[in-house]
Amino acid sequence: MQLDLPQAPLQPLSLPWLQQAQVHAAILRLDLIDPLISGNKWFKLRHHLHQAATRNAPGLVSLGGNHSNHLHALAAAGKRFGFATAGLLRGHPHDTPTVRDLQALGMELHWLGYGGYRARNEPGFWEPWRARYPGWHCIPEGGGGLAGAQGCALIMQQARAQIAALGWADYDAWWLAAGTGTTLAGLVLAEAGAHAVHGALAVPRDHGVPQAVASLAGAHGYQLHDACRGGFGKFDGALLAFIADCEQHTGVPLEALYTGKALLALRDQVAAGLFAPGSRLIFVHTGGLQGRRGYL
Ligand SMILES: *Cc1c(COP(=O)(O)O)cnc(C)c1O
Repeated sequence: MQLDLPQAPLQPLSLPWLQQAQVHAAILRLDLIDPLISGNKWFKLRHHLHQAATRNAPGLVSLGGNHSNHLHALAAAGKRFGFATAGLLRGHPHDTPTVRDLQALGMELHWLGYGGYRARNEPGFWEPWRARYPGWHCIPEGGGGLAGAQGCALIMQQARAQIAALGWADYDAWWLAAGTGTTLAGLVLAEAGAHAVHGALAVPRDHGVPQAVASLAGAHGYQLHDACRGGFGKFDGALLAFIADCEQHTGVPLEALYTGKALLALRDQVAAGLFAPGSRLIFVHTGGLQGRRGYL
């Protein structure tokens, strides 16, 4: 089965604070690969979809919240490529633009409550769901784990195929938002030390991301930067003003949970001199724009 979407475009990224520091940047637009299956979640799903196709699984089931970009991409990919999908949701039935899309895309929804959702990593959690959906492929929360990370090697290949068109002979480093750290780990594995990978943490440092990245990709080849500004999903006026300003300069839409915070953390590190003049950075636009409808 062909499970392909168009390549993410790599575009020059021009902002006054980059120019001032003489840092060159390009943005890899994972938000543009598809109108519905957006961003890094597609790359994290690829291996799972291949596994499901290989095993003739009738469907895929996974977990997430009521704004989940992961469930949104899964529901849309299922519809596109002919798999049934089911979503196990945190909390109680709640109407959000994302939830409405999931239903419209044909995903069967089950609300687990908060306690039920907290049990997701306990042994035996999947048993009743395996019984209810025999032969279906189960995907960990957020598309995490090694299969998710390996799917992200394609992000590196797509960028490398386009740097010559920017007039670059090479690049120096990656910069991207990290939630579980799976996408970051995938790039670290794919680069194998060839280029540094910088992750901007959209969650507090003590939420297990450093351990998750280390278990997938080891201890080297990357740096993690604090970017969550007081917590996952917390927005402040400076962040929202920064996003509006960047959108005006570049025309690139950002959301506030991941890409906006990652770009703001990049600005702070550029201002602090982390990158020498002449450095060439690839900023990954990890998508997530559908989730914006819930809060902007
Ligand atoms: C999920 C998500 C991330 C985080 O990806 P991880 O692989 O979990 O680190 C970053 N940006 C956006 C827009 C996302 O939806």
